[in-house]
Amino acid sequence: MPDFTEVAERIWVARYPWFDVNVTLVGGERGLLVVDTHGSAAAAREVVDDVRRLGAGEVVGIVNTHWHFDHTFGNGTFRAAYDEVPIHAHENAVAELARWGERTRQRFADDPDDPHSEDVTATEIVLPDQTFSSARVLDLGDRAVELVYPGRGHTSGDLVVRVPDADALLAGDLVEESAPPYYNDDCWPMDWPLSLDIVLGLTTPASVVVPGHGAPVDREFVEVQRNEIGIVAETIRDLAGRGVPLEKALDAGEWPYPSERLGAAVARGYEQLPRSQKRLPLL
Ligand SMILES: [Zn+2]
Repeated sequence: MPDFTEVAERIWVARYPWFDVNVTLVGGERGLLVVDTHGSAAAAREVVDDVRRLGAGEVVGIVNTHWHFDHTFGNGTFRAAYDEVPIHAHENAVAELARWGERTRQRFADDPDDPHSEDVTATEIVLPDQTFSSARVLDLGDRAVELVYPGRGHTSGDLVVRVPDADALLAGDLVEESAPPYYNDDCWPMDWPLSLDIVLGLTTPASVVVPGHGAPVDREFVEVQRNEIGIVAETIRDLAGRGVPLEKALDAGEWPYPSERLGAAVARGYEQLPRSQKRLPLL
């Protein structure tokens, strides 16, 4: 039973073993903002119990850092527990959850041996109802919380949450601590490093950065990960530029992460480099 731990002033993080995912609370005079809601209705009921046990107030708003189910499928449970509070997300994240959420549910339905199959299958997908395109400020009374869209990366709709008075930043899955960054078939590997440059611009050397998965980190950690993600992008660009076919690219590259985790990164990168398949003739 994970506990919420205060990592910066009135910012609490609980780290759940299933997917090693973080749920974060930001406290203000008006109440709590919950950032990400875990991966099923049942999983979120545990989170709601933990929020109540912390005793820091009532949830007045929900933020989804991106559409992936381990961050959004608890939305309905929080809505039921806290009276239809608003759910904030980037506009692309809402579109992606609407388009692909059901596919995730089906994947669990098709895998009855997964211990979470029943929970996820029984979960109602609840879409965020408050969207924005570049930035939005949420007023918690004595505290302003900024939602910022730094550009595409882990998905097309990842936001970061900045709490300026606490010098804290919740990075969602644009940053991961307990595993390499997760490239799936909805990722934007060529844009990701540039989006992280914007995220870095929102931090100071003293910032506390909460990743989507794993322990809180500092700016230096994010700089190192930005460089590794940059190497992935540059390697894809180099391989494509030299005309290495997609099927050979994974073996031909030297990667900062295990290559078996980068199949989707390379495939998506090749797709996103418009001229990579047809090389221009050399003059
Ligand atoms: Zn994710």
